[in-house]
Parts: sequence; structure tokens; C-alpha cells
Amino acid sequence: MSKPDRIFLSPPHMGGHELDYVHQAFEANFIAPAGPQLAEFEKRFCELTGFGHCLALASGTAAMHLALRRLGVERGDVVIASTLTFIGSVSPATFLGAELVFVDCDPVSWNMDPVLLEQAIAMATDKGRRVGAVIPTDLYGQCADYDRIREICDRHGIPLVIDAAESVGASYKGRPAGRGGRAAIYSFNGNKIITTSGGGMLASDDGELIDKARWLSQQARDAAPHYEHSTIGYNYRMSNVVAAIGLGQLDVLPDRVARRREIFSWYERALGGLPGVTLAPEADYGVHNRWLTVALFDESFGAAPERVRLALEAENIESRPVWKPMHLQPVFRDAAVVGGAVAEDLFTRGLCLPSGTAMTEGDLERVAAVIRRCGR
Ligand SMILES: *Cc1c(COP(=O)(O)O)cnc(C)c1O
Repeated sequence: MSKPDRIFLSPPHMGGHELDYVHQAFEANFIAPAGPQLAEFEKRFCELTGFGHCLALASGTAAMHLALRRLGVERGDVVIASTLTFIGSVSPATFLGAELVFVDCDPVSWNMDPVLLEQAIAMATDKGRRVGAVIPTDLYGQCADYDRIREICDRHGIPLVIDAAESVGASYKGRPAGRGGRAAIYSFNGNKIITTSGGGMLASDDGELIDKARWLSQQARDAAPHYEHSTIGYNYRMSNVVAAIGLGQLDVLPDRVARRREIFSWYERALGGLPGVTLAPEADYGVHNRWLTVALFDESFGAAPERVRLALEAENIESRPVWKPMHLQPVFRDAAVVGGAVAEDLFTRGLCLPSGTAMTEGDLERVAAVIRRCGR
């Protein structure tokens, strides 16, 4: 018997008009990095997020690198970040020679715990260290508690960079995801809620920050007819062709958020009643985009998440453990962490379920049937 079709965790889902925008780029021969589609993508992203200035880049990781560099993070600084996140959120701090300190999440939102953030800042400043930036991650599409984190950062004069890579289309107290920090970064990697095949965005209300980041993203060329350099820059700009895909994806973002939320509700109905299964919470301050539906499996369920993952894999269904906390990563074995038990528990009990917006009712039923079979 042939295998059933593979169900991926979160595959790209084109809206239907992306190719029209790409054709427009081709017809005008705007294959070079800059072009009207790129400018339009940035303009529409400003409208979406409410930020005054947006810069489209090759990746979300590149956006974080430029944000930290423009905010003056340097060797010897401490950068405080969520421990429950993806490596691209924090590796840029190491590019700049900063030392990372990780902060646990709270059990209610699974995002950076403001009380522990305050402790992490005190720990660093007591040792005479400068904190160069604070980076909360909007985990799996839910905004961190921006107001509380911002109040703490403002009181200490520390720039806040929100990692909204996973929360495009979500909101916090009615404000678009990412809005609230000095800068925010977004990702359009292939598995995100909208994708350009790969790409990222840096957003800020600080026009000078974005202008200088744009200059750094294009090899930091000084004003001269020849190639003149007084600073080292990067080749980080998004290409115009890639931005054209992004225009098509922005057209369908509201549908994508609605469908991800529907998928979450479907899983909640199908699995939420099983003993030992709980699904990721939604904080009352915002609207989750439900990029990935995450389920927690307690001992009373009768199967550990890894057993569930293998059972799904045997049916050609992709699922994935929750992010392994950064303070448990071999590469950060020497980094300090404040708290950590909540993130470790989520890593132990959690599994990300297939959440692609093109999934059918039949696909969802296939996933749920395997999970039900794993339980007692
Ligand atoms: C995807 C992601 C990034 C990095 O984005 P890339 O575009 O893949 O570089 C950063 N932080 C988080 C939390 C992410 O999920």
C-alpha cells in the first residue's frame, strides 16, 4: 500500500496572485535588488504594523542583527532575551560580541516573564554590566506583554526589540504585533504564516535607525561615484522579486490568521477533552495568530510527546517538539538564565501540530485520529 500524502507542519500557502506581482516585476525588468515591488512591500508593511518605517531584508535574523547594531549593542554588553525561542532571535547578539542572558516565560502566555526580566536586569547592572537590549519573542504567534516589558525597559533606559517573527497578523490590546518596541523584526521564512520563500523585515518609528540600517544592509557605501567604505556593512537586502511574492501574501494575511485560528479551534474541540491534553493558552490582552497549534501531553495522557510525534511520522505527518530552550543549548552552556523551569516543562510536554492553512478537514481528522490512538 502506498503511503498517504505527507502533511507538513506549516508549508507555504500561496494566495493565487503572487505570480501576478512577480510578473509585474519581470515585465519592468526589476530583477535587481531594488524596485517598485520592494518599495510597495515596505509601504504596505508600515500600514499593517503601524510603524513609520520598514526595511525589507533577506531574513528575520538579518533584521535582528541590524536592529541590535543600530541600537549600539557592542562587545561586553549583556542582551536579555526569551529562553523559549528560535536561535535566529538571539544569534545576532553573539555576532556583535554581546553576552546573552536568558529569561523564562510565564505559564499564562508562554512569553517572557516581566518579573524575571526585572531580576535579570538587576543581576546585570549589579555586576556593573550595561544591558544593550531586551528581546522578547512573540511565541508561536502570541504577543508578549508589551506594556509591562516596555515599562521596565523605559525605567532602565534599555532599548526594546520585539521579535515578532512568528506573530505577523496578531495583536496586543488592539495594536499590531511588534508595535511597542523601539524596533520590531518579522520573518517571511518558508514555514511562517506568510512567506516570501525567505525574508524578513525591520520596523521602527525611528527614521534614522531605519535609514542607517538600510545603508548597512547594502554594504555601507559612502557617498562617492566609486566604491568608498568607512564602515563594514552587510549584503542583507531583500530582492524585488521576493518582495513581489510578499505583496501577494499580504493580500491574504487576514484569511490566513482566520484559518489558523479555525484550525486551532478544531484541534481544541477534537483533542481538548482527552485526559492529559491541553492546548496553548491565549492571553486576554490580545489576539493570537495561532501560527502553530501546540498541545501539551501530561503523564495522564498515556504517551509522551515524542511517542506521539513518532506515531504521526509513521502516518507521514510532520510535527515538531516545542523550541528547545536556549539555556539548554550546548552553544549557550555558559549563559546565565533567570528561572527556566517553565520553558523546560513546555519543552518536555509540548508538541507543535500541523497547522498549515491549506489543511482540509480530512487532514485534521487524520492527525487527530493518530493522537487519539496514542492515548490510553
Ligand atoms: C523564524 C524566526 C526568526 C528568524 O527568521 P528567519 O527569517 O528564519 O531568519 C527569528 N525569531 C523567531 C522567534 C523565529 O521563529
